[in-house]
Amino acid sequence: MDVRGDFLVIGSGIAGLRAALALADAGDVVVLTKADPAESNTGYAQGGIAAALGPDDSVALHARDTMAAGDGLCDPAAVDVLVRDGARYVQELCDWGVAFDRAPNGDIAFAREAAHSVRRVLHARDATGREIARALWARVAAHPRIRVCDDALVTSLIVRDGGCVGVTFADREGAVRVADAHATLLATGGAGQVFRETTNPAVATGDGIAMAYRAGARVRDLEFVQFHPTVMNVAGAPRFLLSEALRGEGARLVNAEGEAFVSRYDPDGDLAPRDRVSRAMVREAQRTGAPVYLSVQHLSPAFIHERFPTIAQACRAAGLDLARDLIPVSPAAHYMMGGVATDLFGQTSLPGLFAAGEVACTGVHGANRLASNSLLEGLVFGARAAAAMVDGREVSVWPEPPCVSAPAARTLGADEAVPDDAGVRDLMWRQVGLLRDAEGLQSAVSTLERWEAASQQRLARTVQVEPAVRRTANLLMVGLLMARAALRRQESRGGHFRTDFPAHDDVHWKRHVAETATLP
Ligand SMILES: Cc1cc2nc3c(=O)[nH]c(=O)nc-3n(C[C@H](O)[C@H](O)[C@H](O)COP(=O)(O)OP(=O)(O)OC[C@H]3O[C@@H](n4cnc5c(N)ncnc54)[C@H](O)[C@@H]3O)c2cc1C
Repeated sequence: MDVRGDFLVIGSGIAGLRAALALADAGDVVVLTKADPAESNTGYAQGGIAAALGPDDSVALHARDTMAAGDGLCDPAAVDVLVRDGARYVQELCDWGVAFDRAPNGDIAFAREAAHSVRRVLHARDATGREIARALWARVAAHPRIRVCDDALVTSLIVRDGGCVGVTFADREGAVRVADAHATLLATGGAGQVFRETTNPAVATGDGIAMAYRAGARVRDLEFVQFHPTVMNVAGAPRFLLSEALRGEGARLVNAEGEAFVSRYDPDGDLAPRDRVSRAMVREAQRTGAPVYLSVQHLSPAFIHERFPTIAQACRAAGLDLARDLIPVSPAAHYMMGGVATDLFGQTSLPGLFAAGEVACTGVHGANRLASNSLLEGLVFGARAAAAMVDGREVSVWPEPPCVSAPAARTLGADEAVPDDAGVRDLMWRQVGLLRDAEGLQSAVSTLERWEAASQQRLARTVQVEPAVRRTANLLMVGLLMARAALRRQESRGGHFRTDFPAHDDVHWKRHVAETATLP
């Protein structure tokens, strides 16, 4: 049986859940989510959510830090919305019972993270996303007008008369079904799985970006990927994020000699923006030929275990004591700054389709995201997109900052084998990773174009498509869009670093790379 609601939400992370709660006051909401409903980047968020609620803080200061991290490409109007509405919506989370950590006097205990000029990050120990999701799920479950369908893998957007009118999805038995609605929200999260090394869970395969692009929606800023510097790297153990809040509390990056090294490469030292710390680590590892480590040996073990229980447990599982051992770390793909381009209300360039959260490119992050601003973005823009969906707002002129196009796609009649996910992820890590150059990017684009063409042929030939085949097709599509944008941007800025163009170039590149598919 097919599914119908007034509103359709794809994804059950912070953006999808916050939107569903706002939409349910106005109509029947169907949430489609492809795995266990709790499986999302949101559930893994550790450090916290930023909001200008502290006594020494202001929305102006939060905006200033966000713009500085974004390295010249933030949209000031979007940042203003984020920090202003953000304070209000985070206060609402407190009212809804989210148990943020508090000081002994009952005041919220704000944490410090890199590139924030004050302590601004609300947190629930080191599992903030899980706690926020708990509170949102409690409200969603109690709402009679929200229906959640899990194991519902959305595979394409349905476009009729130039607008999105619903989606097709595969249910848990693999049957292809249709869901239609007045308005559809993509809240499908990030795309870390495009890279071999990532902090993201298995669901983060960029499906929303791939589906929106194929349906004709505009995508933007896809060259900007944030690589998180401190991911535990122990052979045989899962890559586990060691939150930046550790460095906020005084943790240091050291080389095999125990020497703190980041300030030799960067004047802001261990709390420099993530892209700069990541590059300092790569350079130090290349210089010494040895791994680099995170150390909290100079801090109180009792404090570390109390404040970071989840991280301590993950270290223990890998045979390490977070408080006493040097923890081997290396960078991994963590967050997508770019995505499906939207206006300030989540409206994409395709009428009827909205996007919010990590899948969207609202302009708040520019070339690099300020730590703990992404849960905030999902919360704020999930609620705003919902309000616009309820209003049935139609934008006649869709606003966009100055953009250039990515290189045009070539039409290929490829007949070669499509690689498995590992092949795509390995290529992306080696050639479209932390350090990029024209040669590697050009080679990646050529290979990915051939693989993508072959993947499309395979999809066209197959009636009952396996989820694994779709996943690979989406990884290929998103990887290709990233590689093309990275090749086009001939400068270094934020998360995008070109060894052949290591400097900023504001004259030519203070603008965005955007792409819209040419549909048949
Ligand atoms: C380890 C880790 C730590 C982090 N720590 C922080 C932090 O401390 N602070 C912070 O601000 N940010 C943090 N982030 C980033 C932040 O968690 C995410 O950016 C944010 O949670 C994204 O929320 P979302 O609602 O957009 O997407 P997600 O929470 O990722 O949810 C996406 C949903 O869409 C579903 N979905 C995807 N594709 C489909 C499909 N085809 N069909 C149906 N459903 C689909 C998924 O199953 C999932 O339910 C962290 C991320 C990671 C991975």
